[in-house]
Amino acid sequence: PVSIFWFRRDLRLDDNAGLYYALKSGNPVLPVFIFDREILDKLQDKDDARVTFIYQTIESLSIALHKHGSTMLILYDKAIHAWDKLIKDHNIAAVYTNHDYEPYATKRDDRVRAKLEEHGIPFKTYKDQVIFEKDEVIKDDGKPYTVYTPYQRKWYSTLKPFYLKAYPTKKYLKNLYQTEAFPIPSLKEMGFEKSNIPLPDKSYEGVIKDYKEQRDFPAIKGTSHIGMHLRFGTVSIRELAATAYSHDDKTWLNELIWREFYMMILHHFPHTMDHAFRPEYDRIHWINDEKQFDAWCKGETGFPIIDAGMRELNTTGFMHNRVRMIVASFLSKDLLIDWRWGERYFARKLLDYEMASNVGGWQWAAGSGTDAAPYFRIFNPDAQTKKFDPELKYIKKWVPEYADFSKYPKPIVDHSKARDRCLAAFKKALAK
Ligand code: FAD
Repeated sequence: PVSIFWFRRDLRLDDNAGLYYALKSGNPVLPVFIFDREILDKLQDKDDARVTFIYQTIESLSIALHKHGSTMLILYDKAIHAWDKLIKDHNIAAVYTNHDYEPYATKRDDRVRAKLEEHGIPFKTYKDQVIFEKDEVIKDDGKPYTVYTPYQRKWYSTLKPFYLKAYPTKKYLKNLYQTEAFPIPSLKEMGFEKSNIPLPDKSYEGVIKDYKEQRDFPAIKGTSHIGMHLRFGTVSIRELAATAYSHDDKTWLNELIWREFYMMILHHFPHTMDHAFRPEYDRIHWINDEKQFDAWCKGETGFPIIDAGMRELNTTGFMHNRVRMIVASFLSKDLLIDWRWGERYFARKLLDYEMASNVGGWQWAAGSGTDAAPYFRIFNPDAQTKKFDPELKYIKKWVPEYADFSKYPKPIVDHSKARDRCLAAFKKALAK
């Protein structure tokens, strides 16, 4: 019999919790990856850069496994059907994997667990993608935190060196199932094309020291761009958090804690994936002008900082955090377009898309979330530009025609009128 290790968003061999326990299970370990049609069939863009990234990562993992005399078994199917095939084709002693927290993933795992158990196969899952999950950092009364600062305080007081320690997975790779390489379905066979978007590298340590001073200026590379690697587990959160912890200034570590805070929130309040955390905010009467939404998506609003951000997103799959806040505030407040439209557009484009952080960020901007900016605090795009892109370097990079007023579009709204309209709409919804 074999133990199967099912790779999902933990695409690395070293410091991988579930893989470590699989390798120590006493049975040879067969690594499996499923290109899940339940997810892939819903993607709108055939050249989705995240699919290319996963594909390339799987290819290099397969090569690395081959060096250890093993391989990766790769299936292209709906996950639940793939498991029918795996159960039929292999004598499986147990299945190992890492916890996956998004609503679709937990439902999928419940179904897979039930199916495996019907066949007497245990399904063992481990914490891997966070330092603290769901119920590990909660209030003394057992309830989840809904405000970040006390959560952060508790996070630090719960931390012990053990939580940052790497799993020595590599030591046990000799326990992999020994076999010839299996074929890998091509991107084309799965209906995708290779993306031309350059993918971010894994360096992050360089930004930690000056992060506090530099992180708010989109014209400089003051942030790590590590989000995509965290999303797919091509880096270990324990390595990142341990490195961050060793620095005197903890600002960057605090951002990693925000990530866990939002994951915890989505777990305890799953309705927030498409409903306001504060229900009264679902009463807002959105205008939802499709033309204005289109202008926002394309970066043609006539507000240079908004247009620069949206064009950065469309071109690179990344947008600086400060600018994410500005464009999200603009969409939900100046244009009175439902934050869910913006959330979905980001989900389609962001390489580092993470449902918990994206929903958290959007609800923060719309004023409807945990810990949100009060609704009457509405970002002024020009004031934000003066503060965070004073030399217009970021704007000039992404909106080169800005210098020529005859070519650059006129603003699609008047900010001060839009501000009044927003205040009125929010007031009306919240007064009921
Ligand atoms: P760094 O600044 O170097 O931070 C390191 C890591 O910490 C990030 O990669 C991320 O994992 C985490 N982090 C940083 N800031 C936050 C934050 N505010 N909330 C949660 N985690 C954070 N982040 C995502 O990972 N995925 C998303 O889909 C996402 N959508 C967002 C939508 C909006 C409207 C807003 C305002 C923010 C969103 N964020 C999202 C949070 C943040 O903007 C990004 O994590 C950050 O810009 C990624 O760049 P970086 O990797 O260089 O981050």
